[in-house]
Amino acid sequence: MSTLPLSRERPTVTDTFGRPLRSLRISVTDRCNLRCKYCMPEEEYTWLPRETILSFEEIAALADLFTELGVDKVRLTGGEPLLRKDLSVLMRMLRRNPRINDLALTTNGVLLAEQAQAFYDAGLHRVTVSLDTLKPERFKALTRRDCFRQVLEGIEAAARVGFKGLKFDTVAIRGYNDDELVDLIEYGKGFGGEVRFIEYMDVGGATDWSMDKVLSRAAMLKMLSQHYGPIEQVLEESSAPAQRFALPDGTTFGIIASTTTPFCATCDRSRLTADGMWFLCLYATEGTDLGQLLRAGASREEIKARILAGWQARRDRGAEQRKELERVGIRARLVEIERLRQDPRLEMHTRGG
Ligand code: SAM
Ligand code: SF4
Ligand code: SF4
Repeated sequence: MSTLPLSRERPTVTDTFGRPLRSLRISVTDRCNLRCKYCMPEEEYTWLPRETILSFEEIAALADLFTELGVDKVRLTGGEPLLRKDLSVLMRMLRRNPRINDLALTTNGVLLAEQAQAFYDAGLHRVTVSLDTLKPERFKALTRRDCFRQVLEGIEAAARVGFKGLKFDTVAIRGYNDDELVDLIEYGKGFGGEVRFIEYMDVGGATDWSMDKVLSRAAMLKMLSQHYGPIEQVLEESSAPAQRFALPDGTTFGIIASTTTPFCATCDRSRLTADGMWFLCLYATEGTDLGQLLRAGASREEIKARILAGWQARRDRGAEQRKELERVGIRARLVEIERLRQDPRLEMHTRGG
């Protein structure tokens, strides 16, 4: 039996491995104003047709159904979510849903300075800014856009308007930014925030990926302890992907070791693309088209039944399977560029990271 009443309001729907349906990442657009090499290595993409992009009302309606099945954490992402006009309006709609007790945003920060106040006023709980380097020239080389200053201004604005506990997500790439781990931790500290280093993943879009560019958790910890001294793991019970560590002075940071130490066993996350395709795993190649169901006039109960059945049948353990390929020596990029051009939903920037 996979639907256990936790409380009267919140059921626990579990998948075939007993993992609960808790956390939903909603991509509000597949467009982006950067071209990070590890995510969008090309200049031009096959975009989702504009008419298929869900309205805020449609997104909120689907989010509602997910929360009736146990989701209580929602993260808005993209592409670059701040390219979606009036995003604070969607935040307000989602905040009206009492079942969502954690509403977060992941952004590249470029447009954050002008929108941070509106987001804070709309009730957004948490902001994560992706920040891979503190060197302007490196930023430009990695993202192929010259907006480093705007990102820093965005972070400063988020802190100024009152967002506490800012998080900074850094994709750590060997030979690219592995000399900046300490600087990034120190930068985060200045905002009372926490840096989370993400191992470079071989997701769709990362057509440049190779195992030798992955800076492993072990290598990061070694580098950091050489600088700071002994590092301790923070012991906590959590399904969050980041393992947290503390420096001798108490400063904490996280490592998301998706590539070398997958955490699929506790994964409670699924993803909704901007056109309403629901994916059960970051690596999934097939999804359920909830957007189309909604637009075809399916009832709330029908859509809920599809979500329930989908989660209950879930067997995804994408990162663990990728790891297994590595063990037998055949791990390589996930999808070739030609196939990505045919199916834009395979891209990391379409499914929100
Ligand atoms: N544009 C927003 C941003 O960059 O924050 C939100 C979407 S982006 C796809 C979400 C996250 O995915 C970012 O933190 C990004 O660094 C991460 N990401 C993208 N490609 C990745 C890869 N190949 N390996 C690890 N993380 C990746
Ligand atoms: Fe970079 Fe995010 Fe845009 Fe991907 S979606 S290119 S990670 S800013
Ligand atoms: Fe979850 Fe898939 Fe990532 Fe594993 S690879 S943690 S199952 S999203």
